[in-house]
Amino acid sequence: MTIPERAGALAATLFLAACAGATNPPVVADPRPLTPMQQKLAKYTTVRLTVDTAALTANERRMIPILIDAAKAMDEVFWLQAYGDRDGLLRSIIDPEAQRFVEINYGPWDRLDEERAFIPDVGEKPKGANFYPRDMTDAEFQAAVAESPERAAALKNLYTLVRREPGGKLVTVPYHEAYPEQVRRAVAKLREAAPLAEQSSLRRYLELRASALESDEYQPSDLAWMDMKDNTIDFVVGPIETYEDQRYGYKAAHEAFVLIKDRAWSARLARYATFLPALQEGLPVAAELKREKPGTDSDLNAYDAVYYAGQANAGAKTIAINLPNDEQVQLEKGTRRLQLKNAMRAKFDKILMPIARELLVEEQLGRVKFDAFFANVMFHEVAHGLGIKNTINGRGTVRTALKEKASALEEGKADVLGLYMVTALNARGELPGEDVRDNFVTFLASLFRSVRFGGADAHGRANIAQFNFLQRRGAITREGRSGRYKVNFDKMQPALDELSSRILTLQGKGDYEGVVAFEAEFGTIGPELKRDLDRLAARGIPVDIIFEQGR
Ligand code: ZN
Repeated sequence: MTIPERAGALAATLFLAACAGATNPPVVADPRPLTPMQQKLAKYTTVRLTVDTAALTANERRMIPILIDAAKAMDEVFWLQAYGDRDGLLRSIIDPEAQRFVEINYGPWDRLDEERAFIPDVGEKPKGANFYPRDMTDAEFQAAVAESPERAAALKNLYTLVRREPGGKLVTVPYHEAYPEQVRRAVAKLREAAPLAEQSSLRRYLELRASALESDEYQPSDLAWMDMKDNTIDFVVGPIETYEDQRYGYKAAHEAFVLIKDRAWSARLARYATFLPALQEGLPVAAELKREKPGTDSDLNAYDAVYYAGQANAGAKTIAINLPNDEQVQLEKGTRRLQLKNAMRAKFDKILMPIARELLVEEQLGRVKFDAFFANVMFHEVAHGLGIKNTINGRGTVRTALKEKASALEEGKADVLGLYMVTALNARGELPGEDVRDNFVTFLASLFRSVRFGGADAHGRANIAQFNFLQRRGAITREGRSGRYKVNFDKMQPALDELSSRILTLQGKGDYEGVVAFEAEFGTIGPELKRDLDRLAARGIPVDIIFEQGR
């Protein structure tokens, strides 16, 4: 699971938006308000991705640009999956600001505004992006699925496109055949980088990942990735997350992260994975909903990001990664969790703190802390390993049973169980010096941050539901006069436990209709919250970041 650049005019726009009225009286009102496109661009603030390469060996420094080249090939593939003909689209647009916004969104639909079109005449974004024929009906897809188990497996495969033959019949095209040029380039770069690896485990992974891109058989390379322990450089690459397929959630989209491990911070995190089995047993739910044993081989490390590409770079940027997604690999070896520290710090400073100053009551503001934010995100990732992967009633994996609803529910689970972990470890005295109340208040500030991603994003959707749930249980209240929010500490944990139990039950039963009902009850932004969020935009507080990155 992952949570997902450029400068110049955008940075200048933001500077104006943020500083108007803050300096030199008498302020002359800007006679030209921001155009709608400038307002859209102002939702992002540009951050230069900087990393300290001092700890790298000469070979490792040589690897970085090679891996970036491979990442760029993933970026091209993602464009084809999300939209199609990138260059044709950009050529059809004259306004440079609109072009820029197209690049940020990998298409003409605004990822921070429920995928609404911002270019005239492009129509609605297909729910299944470009993974399926635009004119394919659900009935047609289901009829094809029903033809045979083999056909169903190919149509639902994570690594195929669904296309239509000239005669009209649906066919599947494996990714390595659909994107031969990009795959060839990425494979060549992976094989060029592999001999430069300082650890045999990294070399082996890069070689296996190259073969995986050629065959679309990813499991051996996922297993090899789990065996990487001492590597300083990491490279997440390939078709990984299914968020882009909003239609069925079957298709994985290409992305890449080039990362450098921060060993000092990683040491801080190392011990938490050992608590997973005990915490799984302590979950406040029925025994059957926690009967799977989470892997203890999992590890948790902090990284600085050098380069984001593809899905990871589209719209809102992830600050933490929990992979692989392959349930078999997870059960056998657990997962690895990667905290992207430089991206996280940028979001905390440029977004979270300004939001807190606007929307939290004065007396709780001092509880918004980077360490608490870091811990919440870290435990969110760890919490993906809790709960269950397979339904308890024979409906297969949770992901298959809940289809396109699976991602948002899984993100919600990770949020609430992450806080459960913080609380449980704190109660055991494992987090000395930490105050759970800081985690709760910082969590509330980050709920506002994530809700702004909108309902099209799995994390955004999950956060809207959490906010509404906690507010209706009185764990969060809004002061009418100031329009500011606070956490009611005594009501927070019971509300979180209730929500955990609800989510885990939906997952355990593979209850698709139940998730639909849950979303109907809690999944929309109410008018009051909408007005409060509008205050953030009026203050010029960005929603997310875009990167200045590359060599
Ligand atoms: Zn997550």
